[in-house]
Amino acid sequence: MSDRTLYKGFTLIDGSGKAPVENAWFIVEDKKIVDIGQGDEHPAVDESQVVDLSGKTVMPGLINCHVHITMEPVADPFSILSNESDAQTALRSAVNLKKHLKAGTTFFRDLGAPNFIDLDLRDAVKKGMIQGPEFVAAGKCISMTGGHGWSIGKEADGVDEVMKAAREQLKAGADLLKVMATGGVMTPGVEPGSPQLSMEEMRAAVVEAHKVGKKVATHAQGAEGIKNAVLAGVDSVEHGIFLTDEIIELMLERGTYLVPTLAAPYFIVKNGVEAGIPEYAVRKSESVMESHMNSFKKAHKAGVKIAMGTDAGTPFNLHDKAPYELKLMAECGMTPMETIVASTKNAAELLGIDENYGTLEKGKFADFLVLDENPLDNLDTLFNINRVYKLGKLVE
Ligand SMILES: [Zn+2]
Repeated sequence: MSDRTLYKGFTLIDGSGKAPVENAWFIVEDKKIVDIGQGDEHPAVDESQVVDLSGKTVMPGLINCHVHITMEPVADPFSILSNESDAQTALRSAVNLKKHLKAGTTFFRDLGAPNFIDLDLRDAVKKGMIQGPEFVAAGKCISMTGGHGWSIGKEADGVDEVMKAAREQLKAGADLLKVMATGGVMTPGVEPGSPQLSMEEMRAAVVEAHKVGKKVATHAQGAEGIKNAVLAGVDSVEHGIFLTDEIIELMLERGTYLVPTLAAPYFIVKNGVEAGIPEYAVRKSESVMESHMNSFKKAHKAGVKIAMGTDAGTPFNLHDKAPYELKLMAECGMTPMETIVASTKNAAELLGIDENYGTLEKGKFADFLVLDENPLDNLDTLFNINRVYKLGKLVE
């Protein structure tokens, strides 16, 4: 007989966007929710296997769609990354993994790490060698020569080279691909607005990924590059700083997700050069922040699918502070419930893991958070999570 544990008496926010359920219960057996309901009637379990969560709120663990687990969120993350061995990077990243999990992120997506260290870390978590959220990872991001992220990515020019770069990532075991459609904030000498990989180049990566049922995320900030990426058929636009009405229309038509990562420029601007962030990164972030928030507001209003991602690992964008992104999205017009759905159900759908994760229902994995307050009344309660459960086990 395997263990069956009954959790009862809590307010349930199941992640689907449905209204909360009072006095809810579920039974967890072998990592999964095997039964769920409401009220005082429930199947009998051993008395020692009952967890009374009266007065608490339970919701799914957060799913962060944009993380750089190998990056340290200091003023200049690349100064660390480029001066250490792969082993040092991996050990440092293992600490970051734990931070995510303890702070309530039970699944995430890594979007760019050097030397396939992300893939080894992913496997180590899966095998139980190190503690952390499960995650999917992109391997090396694919950029044009000298393009955004080139120093930790794979440079490729022209359709054939991008096709090959894509196949190399898939061969190494990447769960998805990341392509760079535009310049960005964190690479010196490239501008967020300028297009980089062409539509045809990105299409080559999309074809390779989709052939094997995998997805493509794109770093895309300027309008021309975002449009190229959407037309190439990418599954998600990361950042999406300069969205036009035309692009929003295209994203709606094609079901392209937006992962806004509002926290990334927010923390760069908030801390500034005084904190030691490179001048180029601060200047670029300051110049894009307003457009970024306006683009998000427009996309949200229009009904573009939005999934939560923080870009954790960029300057002062800490590995245990994902709720800031929910708060920023709320400041830009989302209801608290919408921020939660973007961080659970929508995120799981974007990652292609929604069969098993993202909502709390019968048959899905028991990745859940116990909160002292209802986050619909106060999102800040997510900064102070009472308990985190991963695959049915209390995270300690
Ligand atoms: Zn990023």
